[in-house]
Amino acid sequence: MSNSIASGDDAPSGSSAKLSALKEFRSAGRGVWRDVPEANWNGWHWQLKNRITTVEQLQQLLPALTSEEFAGTMLANTRLALAITPYFFNLIDAADEKCPIRRQVIPRIEETKTAPWEMTDPCGEESHSPVPGLVHRYPDRVLFLVTDRCAAYCRYCTRSRLVSNASGYDFHPHFEQQIDYIRRTPAVRDVLLSGGDPLLFSDEKLEYLLSRLRAIPHVEFLRIGTRIPIFLPQRITPQLCAMLRQYHPLFISIHSNHPRELTAEVRDALGRLADAGVPLGNQSVLLRDVNDDLTVLRAHVQKLLMCRVKPYYIYQCDLIAGSAHLRSSVRKGLEIMAGLRGHTTGYAVPTYVIDAPGGGGKVPVSPEYVLSHNADRVVIRNYEGKVFEYPEAADGTPLVAPPKEIEGPELV
Ligand code: SF4
Repeated sequence: MSNSIASGDDAPSGSSAKLSALKEFRSAGRGVWRDVPEANWNGWHWQLKNRITTVEQLQQLLPALTSEEFAGTMLANTRLALAITPYFFNLIDAADEKCPIRRQVIPRIEETKTAPWEMTDPCGEESHSPVPGLVHRYPDRVLFLVTDRCAAYCRYCTRSRLVSNASGYDFHPHFEQQIDYIRRTPAVRDVLLSGGDPLLFSDEKLEYLLSRLRAIPHVEFLRIGTRIPIFLPQRITPQLCAMLRQYHPLFISIHSNHPRELTAEVRDALGRLADAGVPLGNQSVLLRDVNDDLTVLRAHVQKLLMCRVKPYYIYQCDLIAGSAHLRSSVRKGLEIMAGLRGHTTGYAVPTYVIDAPGGGGKVPVSPEYVLSHNADRVVIRNYEGKVFEYPEAADGTPLVAPPKEIEGPELV
């Protein structure tokens, strides 16, 4: 029996053209760097050396820099540095003040406005650090912070207290102490290398860490969290992939927020990692006027699968100081999740989580699908809003008598 309580409208016709356009794989192109030799442009060291880091460079490249962006950039180096690789800069639509790529990496004056409930360490990492640079929040896994540097800086970064060192945090990881803690703690079976971005290390330095961790018998599983494939796909060299494949099981979580970030260059870089046997997942942050839109996120998750990446998490933006202008609402996040589940491939649907403010860990949040749990049935709804019953006694045992008829859906 079923009753429809809502319409499960799939891809409204007006949005299907937008969906197709967002799913096209385009190259970032060369932009103003068209005369740079091919070998330089495709070299990750050249990209890093030529990052945009000053207001003067930004003004030259983006003559229509807004007053909010100008003022934000003037103050960026006291909060979270400005840095954008030339490759990633080419994804910005200079004519569009609201460009979703631009909003992620160009500082704005709103970053200086902090509400009393915002924090510099919203996930409470410092209070779960048994040794500097190691976060042991969950029972069987640790977060191993290896550096405070990234290829580019995201304006909503949860770790903006330490990345880029603009506010004088002075992060100096002590690898020996961090490795020693993991060695002495048999409960740790999973180590996530993050930062900052571990893939900024040379192959040799990264291999040193991976080999030391792999030599610890109780470490079953290694992970790397990185935004490098998105900011700097040139870093994903065949040599790096050949090194990484020696340390399996090794997973990589990338961080991409918008389908326009998934260029032809990124798809090729991710393909190299996948060919090296590295399972890939993606973590996105729900950001206001960047990706808090069903069509945008549907295009994104479908495009990720085409890049051989499983959409893993979508995070409600943490209560990071100065991020209010980029935070979308939980209500919007739930609406988008309801628009994905059932409407597209299950593999494409990430888990929506809120990192509980202050250090409570990730809490999954989901639209309601269980409407009630009664004496002889569970009442559920599907993605189209149709209501169904699953006969079962309240204590979970199989029913011995048929359930009583119900007159209509019992909604909670
Ligand atoms: S790449 Fe990650 S660590 Fe670096 S600024 Fe962006 S969110 Fe923060």
